[in-house]
Amino acid sequence: MRTLDHMIAGSAAGAPASRFSDIFDPNTGKVQARLGLGTAADLERAVAAAAKAQPAWAATNPQRRARVMFNFKQLIEKNMQELAELLSSEHGKVVADAKGDIQRGLEVVEFACGIPHVLKGEYTQGAGPGIDVYSMRQPLGIVSGITPFNFPAMIPMWMFGVAIAVGNAFILKPSERDPSVPNRLAELMLEAGAPEGILQVVHGDKEMVDAILDHPAISAVSFVGSSDIAHYVYQRGVAAGKRVQAMGGAKNHGIVMPDADLDQVVADLSGAAFGSAGERCMALPVVVPIGDKTAVALREKLIPAIEALRVGVSTDPDAHYGPVVTAAHKAKIENYIQMGVDEGAELVVDGRGFALQGHEDGFFVGPTLFDKVTTGMRTYQEEIFGPVLQMVRAPDFETALRLPSEHQYGNGVAIFTRNGHAAREFAARVNVGMVGINVPIPVPVAYHTFGGWKRSAFGDTNQHGMEGVKFFTKVKTVTQRWPDGGVSGDSSFVIPTMG
Ligand code: NAD
Repeated sequence: MRTLDHMIAGSAAGAPASRFSDIFDPNTGKVQARLGLGTAADLERAVAAAAKAQPAWAATNPQRRARVMFNFKQLIEKNMQELAELLSSEHGKVVADAKGDIQRGLEVVEFACGIPHVLKGEYTQGAGPGIDVYSMRQPLGIVSGITPFNFPAMIPMWMFGVAIAVGNAFILKPSERDPSVPNRLAELMLEAGAPEGILQVVHGDKEMVDAILDHPAISAVSFVGSSDIAHYVYQRGVAAGKRVQAMGGAKNHGIVMPDADLDQVVADLSGAAFGSAGERCMALPVVVPIGDKTAVALREKLIPAIEALRVGVSTDPDAHYGPVVTAAHKAKIENYIQMGVDEGAELVVDGRGFALQGHEDGFFVGPTLFDKVTTGMRTYQEEIFGPVLQMVRAPDFETALRLPSEHQYGNGVAIFTRNGHAAREFAARVNVGMVGINVPIPVPVAYHTFGGWKRSAFGDTNQHGMEGVKFFTKVKTVTQRWPDGGVSGDSSFVIPTMG
């Protein structure tokens, strides 16, 4: 059985692990490899290598650092197919979607190729008599990222693409469920010219996460995962004096106005609710048609579209989506479906008991549709993270606006309409961090920033774009005066002003 190890100081050879977790092939349900779970001692080795490499990396001029990012971009493009197949084999998303996962991370690396421009500071000449003020953004030192299973390429690159380009050393703790692509990314960064110790990968579970949160040499932690863990990471990291951003779960709503193009809505919803088996934090698992007439018409079109979805192995080029990540996650989704029935929602399409011929032990869940879901139901309040679409009927615009606004999660939301005024009003008033107008998955492009509100994000800076640069740097502001040689000699006991 293949065993996967950390990537510390440029090599995969580490101290032998005493605890392991299984890496499954979700298509077959079989264990395909095992992962050695690290300890505080493994982290210590990574921190030592990072501390050795980081000062010289920070002192390397930004254009040279950007060239490494550029080489890395080219290597990812060259290895795209291999990376996508590897990602798909552990996660279960179809290969085309795995390429999208890599591509969206690569776009942050492309942003990082322009880091010399981005790092230029502010300057004021003559802020006072003979006084100039300027600022510089300096790296934090050693920083860390803890990432979820559902985007094993994109989310690490959101973080380290920016963190490394601005001069930090980065220690990645990826999900235990699909750890191979993160290791490959670290190998490719070395090949691109990053010094050993600048991008390292340590594997593990809570024990490793706690070691990261408590380590005094790690200045900042970026986390993406479920909300309870995000909150925990935020609290423990901040208590240890670190800068922490912690993104959590989601329950994104799609509002359908009576004037929307329903055929387009059905096409958009099919992809956004069921793509990647619903295992996206920007999936659209709740649809809110306004008015019963809209609900009835939408439901009539949705049922055949959902029944026509093709669930297949992740290497099937015609499959719309593949298996979910583990047997435990499949059981959790199916429990939520039963809970929905018990709570009194109408189960219109039931995806339980789905078996793919020849892959009966794979972790497949068929597409599921509920109608007449109400806000008091647990299945509405909680994140299911599977191929389950819930319809909540709203009588009017104001009610529809209140649903996502009052939900505990506030990651993304979409409105489908032809009415520009309503869309504008919705975008301005909704209490959610990312809004799509006739765009079902409004993940902002790399040079903007990504982040939700409420229990979808703890901390105040978003991922990537200028917010990422801010998170991974600290600002130093210099106020300078170069005396002309004359002696001024006076002491001042009053706070200096420029007035
Ligand atoms: P998860 O919370 O189980 O795991 C995330 C990370 O935390 C992993 O690296 C894991 O090893 C670690 N971890 C797990 N249990 C821990 C514990 N008890 N203590 C400390 N660390 C622990 O999340 P997941 O199942 O891998 O990913 C799915 C979740 O991530 C969903 O809730 C999804 O919405 C969310 N997500 C959010 C965003 C976003 O940007 N808001 C993006 C992607 C995924």
